Amino acid sequence: MRFNPKARLDTSRVRDGGGGGASGGPMRIPLPGGTKAGGGIGAVLIVILFLILQQCAGGGLPSPGGGTSSGTDTSRMQDTERYDNCKTGDDANTDVDCARVAVENSLVDYWADTLPSQSDTQFSPASMTTFSGAVPTGCGQASSQVGPFYCPPDQGIYLDTTFFADVLEGQLGGQGGDFVEPYVLAHEYGHHVQNLMGTMGRVRTQQGADSDAVRLELQADCYAGMWTAHAEDSELITLDPADIEEALDSAKAVGDDRIQQKSGQGVDPEGWTHGSSEQRMAWFTRGYEEGSLEACDTFSASDL
Ligand SMILES: [Zn+2]
Repeated sequence: MRFNPKARLDTSRVRDGGGGGASGGPMRIPLPGGTKAGGGIGAVLIVILFLILQQCAGGGLPSPGGGTSSGTDTSRMQDTERYDNCKTGDDANTDVDCARVAVENSLVDYWADTLPSQSDTQFSPASMTTFSGAVPTGCGQASSQVGPFYCPPDQGIYLDTTFFADVLEGQLGGQGGDFVEPYVLAHEYGHHVQNLMGTMGRVRTQQGADSDAVRLELQADCYAGMWTAHAEDSELITLDPADIEEALDSAKAVGDDRIQQKSGQGVDPEGWTHGSSEQRMAWFTRGYEEGSLEACDTFSASDL
């Protein structure tokens, strides 16, 4: 992945909350077991599942401020200067933080064009917040252990960037590479698009190979594929075949069957919330090849 060195970057929607989270210190979500043992993976994913279920239920976690559902307490969070030096594509080529900004800019460009042209939904961008330790969000206080996630009430994507090396490559055995994070960001952006389109309200069944939760997640992978195909041809980003392989390998690493195996459980489709490795790769590829919201209609698919 390379960026056009002359491109100007827009850091206005990307911020870093630093370490520790809100005043009062980090609140860790209690987890049974450590994060290195096999059971830890299961525990991490249970928390991810918990957050996603809360989000899909439409309410989000209770806001500490107790405000309206669109309110957020992230204004209490300090913003570090992590992204202040990200000015151009040249910066993105030499600095992974600036590469994150460039990917965000590309996602915004793509969906600002695509969403109104392929649907009757108007686009508005998500915010993107990096942190370490813990962070206050419109879905409540989140710790690094939940992994990257999208919070519908404040339309924000949150990620602790240590997730990629520690969990995705470390615990789940992904091969890594510079396109792993763009795939994950594009997946989370897919959830933002679903939120704008009202798709999250269609989720009734939360678990199982055929569940609406799995359909929602596979659709986010499909949307990630749509953006990837665009990025490949865009003025801002140049991709090579290895990048596509990295996206597919990441989709494989976060498949429910793979995670169940890695955490020492047997494979049990009844417990799935995101879809199998094979399904996640297949829907990413479908979005990549077809490039349309219609092709990503997992809710109408009889066979996932
Ligand atoms: Zn997801």
